[in-house]
Amino acid sequence: MSQALTPGAVIGIIGGGQLGRMSAMAAARLGFRTHIFSPEAACPAAAVSAGLTVGAYDDQEALRAFASHVDVVTFEFENVSAAGLDLLAALRPVHPSPATLRVSQDRVTEKSFINGAGAPSGAWAAVYSPDEVREAAVGLGYPCVLKTARMGYDGRGQAVLRGPDDVDAAWERLEPKPMILEAFVDFACEISVIVARGAGGATVAFDAVENRHRDHVLDITLAPARIGPDLAARARDVAMRVARGLRLVGLLAVEMFVDRDGGVLVNEIAPRPHNSGHWTIDACPVSQFEMHIRAVAGLPLPPAVRHSDAVMQNLIGPEGAARWPEVLATPGLIPHWYGKTAARPGRKMGHVTRLFPRGALPGEFGVAAALGLKADAASGP
Ligand code: AMP
Repeated sequence: MSQALTPGAVIGIIGGGQLGRMSAMAAARLGFRTHIFSPEAACPAAAVSAGLTVGAYDDQEALRAFASHVDVVTFEFENVSAAGLDLLAALRPVHPSPATLRVSQDRVTEKSFINGAGAPSGAWAAVYSPDEVREAAVGLGYPCVLKTARMGYDGRGQAVLRGPDDVDAAWERLEPKPMILEAFVDFACEISVIVARGAGGATVAFDAVENRHRDHVLDITLAPARIGPDLAARARDVAMRVARGLRLVGLLAVEMFVDRDGGVLVNEIAPRPHNSGHWTIDACPVSQFEMHIRAVAGLPLPPAVRHSDAVMQNLIGPEGAARWPEVLATPGLIPHWYGKTAARPGRKMGHVTRLFPRGALPGEFGVAAALGLKADAASGP
C-alpha cells in the first residue's frame, strides 16, 4: 500500500464540476490542497482549489503538466479519457484505477463485470445491429430498453422499445454504437448505495437511499430508503461485493432497482462521488466526499454512519436557480451552490438538504413540505 498522504499534499482531480468542487472542499478540511484538470477555466471545482490545469482530457502535454503538480490523481466523472488516465498512472498513483474506469465506461463490460462479481442485474444482451436487437427482444420481451454502451448519462442515449416496429428508428437515432438491450424493469423504487474502499481492502458502505428522477435527472434523494432492513442489508452487500470485485480504491456508487418481488437489480455503477450521496455532507460525520479523499489519500476509513435522516433536492436549471433566495430564507433548508456561470435547462446548479432525527423521515406529504414544495411537485418518479 502506498504511503498515506500528509497535510500539504496535493490531490489532483480530473474534472471541474460540482463533484470535484465538493471533493476539494472535503480535502481542504483534511489539510490537503487540490489541483483541478478541466477543459474549462471557469469551473465550479477550480473556484475552491489551489491549482488548475486547463486542457482537453486527451491532451498529453497538459496531462503531464498536471501530473507534475500533484501527489495522487483521482477523477470526478467517468467520461474522462481512459488512455489519458493510463498516461497519468505511469507518473502518479491513480485511484480508482484506469481498469475500474474502463469497466464503468461501457455498459456491456459493466453488466458482465457486475454479474461476474455475483451481483444481480436485469436480463440484457449486447447488440450490434437492428436484427440482433429484434432477436434479443424475443428473449427479453417488450417493452425493453435500448441504450448506447458508451457515453450515456442522465437518460441520454436510450430508448424504450414497445415492439419490433420501434427498433429501426431507435437504432438509427442513438449514437454511439454498439448498444445494449435491457429487459424493462417494472421497479417499485430506485435506490443507490455508496461504498468506499481503501488500498488495504477496508470497505465501508453508506445506507441505501431512495432516488426519484424527473426528466431522467435525479430530483430527490430520501435517506434512508424506505425499504425493509433485509433488503437494505442486501443492497449494501451487493454494493460491497462489486467494490471488492473491482479491487476499488476510492468511492463507488451502485444504482439499483428494487423490483416488485423485493429483489435488488444493479442498473449501473459510477466509481466517483455521486449525486445521490450529497445528503451525507449534512447528515453524516464523514461525507461521501471525505470518504473519497480519505480512500485516495490512504487515510483510515471511519464507519459510514449517519446521525440524521435527510431529504436532498437538486436545484436544476433556471427554475431551480430561481429558488435560491427562497432557499436561503427558509429555516432548516441547508443550501449548497455550485458557482456555475450559466443556468442552462437541466443543469445542476446546487442542492438543498433538510435533516430529520433518525427514524423521523416524513411521509409523502411531509417530503414536499420539508422542501418547501407543493405536494404534487415532489411526488412520483
Ligand atoms: P441510466 O442512464 O441507465 O441510469 O437510466 C436512467 C433512468 O432510466 C434510470 O434511473 C431508470 O429510471 C430508467 N431505466 C434505465 N434502465 C431501465 C430499465 N432496464 N428498466 C426500467 N427503467 C430503466
